[in-house]
Amino acid sequence: MQPRLIVGLTAVLLTLSLRAHAFDAAAHRLIGAIADQQLNPVARQHVLTDLGYDLRTAGPWADCVRNVKRDGDQYRYTLDPQHPEYHAPCTAFESPQEQARLEDYARRHWQTCDGAGGGPCHGRYHYTDVAIQHRRYERRWLGTRDDDIVGAIAAAIAVLQGKPCPPPFRIADTKEALLMLAHFVGDLHQPLHVGSVYLNTDAQPFDPDANGKTLHSDADTHGGNALRDPQTGRNLHAAWDRIPDGLGDIADATLVRQAQRVPPSPAPIDRWPMIWATESLQVARRAFNGLAYTADPQRPGQWQLQFVDRARYQRDQAALQQQAIIRAGARLAQLLNTVWPSQDHAGHGDGGSR
Ligand SMILES: [Zn+2]
Repeated sequence: MQPRLIVGLTAVLLTLSLRAHAFDAAAHRLIGAIADQQLNPVARQHVLTDLGYDLRTAGPWADCVRNVKRDGDQYRYTLDPQHPEYHAPCTAFESPQEQARLEDYARRHWQTCDGAGGGPCHGRYHYTDVAIQHRRYERRWLGTRDDDIVGAIAAAIAVLQGKPCPPPFRIADTKEALLMLAHFVGDLHQPLHVGSVYLNTDAQPFDPDANGKTLHSDADTHGGNALRDPQTGRNLHAAWDRIPDGLGDIADATLVRQAQRVPPSPAPIDRWPMIWATESLQVARRAFNGLAYTADPQRPGQWQLQFVDRARYQRDQAALQQQAIIRAGARLAQLLNTVWPSQDHAGHGDGGSR
């Protein structure tokens, strides 16, 4: 194998592994905690009986699935002593029944796609990669898939509504749908899980859907995973996944009040994943503002990042992240309150616009 190709493959593997830690566990817990406090009594009862614990606990679940390793036709939840941080958010799911659920979900969603390089397909449910030049999420854009984050949320909503689960998803039951939503509604609001920049050979952003979708294979920055900040050594995606300093993973009264002010989404519930993805795409355009890129000649498909004004960028980033977390918590609650309306609103839950 040529050295250059080896370097390229290493970069791809690095990108895939870096993608492994989407919106960090603290952010997912906080989003769940905000939602927990906004559920109506009927929805809260469904969460407690169908799920068995609160949404704050459930938040990190879909990342804990990544601890399931495949060995032939065996799927085993495996602790990696080198990475205790992958295990720490998952202790709530380590009873025999919960581990069996993680393993069964991983098995059902392992080989349901092309292009995962032999890895588990469920890892692709956490994101989509729409070029930020687009004004809205549409399924025809490069980087979208039937099994992207929009498809995953739509499938889980369908299961909660008692509708057939759309393929390639194979969602076992209401509990699994709730576990998926508790995580993926959060990821959908992390703007770099939706918007991406595609860079040409001069390291300039371009729209890959123009000109007949011809692009070189290394053009996608994978939601900023391939953009490295030389000062911190961290990639841009990881920087956006981290919960902003000072937020913690408990929803205080201020956050809950802000979440209560998030307006309900318009249109029927089955359009919400696309509406929220479009909003996140617009935030992503701001997230890629004030940045410049330099190709890394040693690592095809990797770029170095420069900030026009680093301090200002980080201030804006923290504010956008906090708003995204608040919106995600509010939307998760709105979604469950619409599926399971309170007694006062019974009959308006399916497809309602509250
Ligand atoms: Zn995720």
